[in-house]
Amino acid sequence: MLTILGQSRIFLSACYPSNGFQPRAPPMYTVHAMSCLFCKIVEGQIPSTAVHQDELTYAFSDIDPKAPVHILIVPREHIGSLEEADASKSALLGHLMQTAAEIARNKGLGEGYRVVINTGKHGGQSVDHLHLHLLGGRQLTWPPG
Ligand code: AMP
Ligand code: ZN
Repeated sequence: MLTILGQSRIFLSACYPSNGFQPRAPPMYTVHAMSCLFCKIVEGQIPSTAVHQDELTYAFSDIDPKAPVHILIVPREHIGSLEEADASKSALLGHLMQTAAEIARNKGLGEGYRVVINTGKHGGQSVDHLHLHLLGGRQLTWPPG
């Protein structure tokens, strides 16, 4: 069932992910988010290899890995980029970072790892849904390209 709430928000009351995780409340989307690749992955409309999931986040293997471990951690909520994450998202941002560290521990990345948030055109962001890259399993170089 589809109900318009206000000018820009749409509530999909019967839409649950097919990846096994059922949120306590149905997800809420912006109109833009309905065409967003990572929103579709979060909802299970596009397949992914799940690594971690909780009420706020979903983590999955990058389809084009740049290191032996390359995992994307995304908020279930659509946020376009770090630039769009205002102060109301501070707790969520902290949770995303803690989740990245937890996954790194679970993946045995005791030698170290890197967490990257590409933002905007110059940052090289290609998918407009906030995501953390967790990279590890080899010696990473600096500076990045
Ligand atoms: P960025 O360039 O920082 O926006 O990162 C986007 C990442 O999403 C890239 O590393 C892509 O390889 C990855 N990606 C794109 N499509 C998929 C997909 N269907 N499943 C998993 N990862 C994807
Ligand atoms: Zn999205």
